[in-house]
Amino acid sequence: MNAAAVAMIIVVLAHGHGGGLAGPRVPPADLVVRGAVIHTGAARMSRATAMAIRHGRIVQIGNEPSVAPLIGAGTTVLDLNGLTVLPGLVDSHGHVLGLGNLLAEVDVTGTASYAAVVESVRVRAARTPAGEWIQGRGWDQNDWTEKSFPQHAALSAAVPGHPVAIARVDGHALLVNRRALDLAHITRDTPDPPGGEILRDAGGEPTGVLVDNAEELVTALIPPLGPAQREERLLAAMRECARYGLTMVGDAGIGRETWDAYQALLARGTFPIRINAMASVPGELADELLARGPQNGDRLMLRTLKLVADGALGSRGALLSADYSDQAGHRGLETFPFDSLERVAVRARAKGLQVRVHCIGDLANTRTLDAFERAFGGQPRPALRWAIEHAQVVRPEDIRRFARLGIVASMQATHATSDGPWAARRLGPERVKWSYAWRQFLDAGARFADGSDFPVESVNPMLGLYAAITRRDLAGELPAGGWRPEERLTAGEALRSFTIGGAWLAFRDRDLGSLEIGKQADFIVVDHDPILGPPADLPKTRVLRTVVAGETVYQADVH
Ligand SMILES: [Zn+2]
Repeated sequence: MNAAAVAMIIVVLAHGHGGGLAGPRVPPADLVVRGAVIHTGAARMSRATAMAIRHGRIVQIGNEPSVAPLIGAGTTVLDLNGLTVLPGLVDSHGHVLGLGNLLAEVDVTGTASYAAVVESVRVRAARTPAGEWIQGRGWDQNDWTEKSFPQHAALSAAVPGHPVAIARVDGHALLVNRRALDLAHITRDTPDPPGGEILRDAGGEPTGVLVDNAEELVTALIPPLGPAQREERLLAAMRECARYGLTMVGDAGIGRETWDAYQALLARGTFPIRINAMASVPGELADELLARGPQNGDRLMLRTLKLVADGALGSRGALLSADYSDQAGHRGLETFPFDSLERVAVRARAKGLQVRVHCIGDLANTRTLDAFERAFGGQPRPALRWAIEHAQVVRPEDIRRFARLGIVASMQATHATSDGPWAARRLGPERVKWSYAWRQFLDAGARFADGSDFPVESVNPMLGLYAAITRRDLAGELPAGGWRPEERLTAGEALRSFTIGGAWLAFRDRDLGSLEIGKQADFIVVDHDPILGPPADLPKTRVLRTVVAGETVYQADVH
């Protein structure tokens, strides 16, 4: 038990008994959790077994006797029989609408044959009004017995009345049916667009597979989401987040339509988790934010500008200071000019806004730190809580600069384990030593927060904890001892990066991010203990209940 808990018991006793029969009584709690292993996530990672909540806030946390006086006739009591309770998890960088789109579309990931893809689309078409687009993603012909690209005939025969567009697992090819080809006026005479290809059969007819820039011939025809549909998808994604134990998500780059949809959901009272929204720069919402300043609420916050300084390492878009080790003469892309970035940063600081910049390559990190340092007037400004997103390839002197300036490294543990099998090919043996280097950030004294970048990676934060603690992947492509295991975090450090680290980055560490008296009751119940149990159990760990401000927003079917 921590000192605060001891102090609270004394307060409870004083109120409950000190005044005798006529004395003031402590109002009963709305909810009491007991018989649990509660990892409080407080600075010293203390443990408790019971917790009491009133009006959405923790009024007591400690042992069973300490909460007993708070149980009244109207108190809901959860006896957890030794299950584990954690602070609500925070994914500091995800894409909520992207997840909603994935949930709404036909998911053909892992299908064993083209026939299975056709069947999934047919089932969806049967309950979709004729003429409406059917979208999906996930096919990979390498998983099929017949490993050549699919031809549209079977799909067109099964689904003649709806235009269909199903992306390959990597998004670099699109399978469409006859109806979609017709709507796009794609015939044997249509030329391939620059940077794209319309696959054709031996007779010269389009096969229904469009590669890279040719995808736009069809995707340009798909109507944008209407407001109701956008709200539906955001809500479905937020519920999915709650299902995986996330109580707050940083939505890493949105525009006006998504902000409006969030506000509509909030006004209707259907807002299961907390969203810390970031406005994409350039964009109308970002301009408005720069004009008006932060717009903060309890469930929905907007105080951040999100910029993208370079591309990704996999597609060789990450901006490096020297050539890619596997492509001479190539150093990646500068996607937002650094002088403009500095101008935005200066304006943001004047308006009290947070700035978070996507930087993967070492040069993107160096230049963005330069821009931040100038916007800071050369001084450390930890109170601003500005951040670099991903912070993947960072020179050792820049890792120290994160710590010195007070810049948060907002990283994604699963990116390391996904990229691990090939990152050294892109970077070579020297640069890879200061890449995905969380231990080095931590040891340098830099603040950091974790996330997943969903739907690029799975939304499941247990996989992030697993990756951070073990540096191992689920596919088994990395060494059994982990990829660059010297960068592993302890279970406590990993949990803090997914809780208080994220709360700090969202300016919510005073009332969220750990289970302490006075804080809001955002917590989850899980069936494995990530702190005391073996890390190998993390990928199969299930969230049984997710609670936001004392209210259950997700409960598993089987307890
Ligand atoms: Zn992202």
